[in-house]
Amino acid sequence: MGNIITITAGHSNTDPGACNGLHREADKAQDMRNIVAYYLKQADVEFRVDGEGKGNLPLSKAIDLIKGSKLAVEFHCNASSNKTARGVEALSQLKDKSISQKLCKAVADVMGIPLRGDRGWKPENSGQHHRLGYVAQGGIVLELFFISNDAELAIWEERKWLIGKAVAGVLIEVANG
Ligand SMILES: [Zn+2]
Repeated sequence: MGNIITITAGHSNTDPGACNGLHREADKAQDMRNIVAYYLKQADVEFRVDGEGKGNLPLSKAIDLIKGSKLAVEFHCNASSNKTARGVEALSQLKDKSISQKLCKAVADVMGIPLRGDRGWKPENSGQHHRLGYVAQGGIVLELFFISNDAELAIWEERKWLIGKAVAGVLIEVANG
């Protein structure tokens, strides 16, 4: 297996995911993928994406990219009808527990938000998440923050480049490790 890192954006151009007013989960996921890609490129890390700019392949195509990757991460936002629900979590197989916790800590430290689950990690069978096919195939679903939480959404808008840089830092370590 090479050192290829795969990063994909949750949802697609036809599936906006969770929404809060005009804010759409698919757009946040694309932003994050594009920002992380920027830093991976700077670090000369070999990586794959499911599109550039506003490009965002559907799940089946994103899953195809996992095979042959050292690590695959898909970006999502969490959402709840409870506006106070908050924090970051990652769903993955047990093999990726430690790296999932590092990714969550990177996000939590920059955003100042709590870690959910086991220091950020949740097993693949724990959620009602709609995209666990990605986890079943060996990828990590990183739920960055709650788009339904106005305060977390505001922090994201303000710090997304720092968040992306921190997450890219963890991925660069994996690629070079
Ligand atoms: Zn999602």
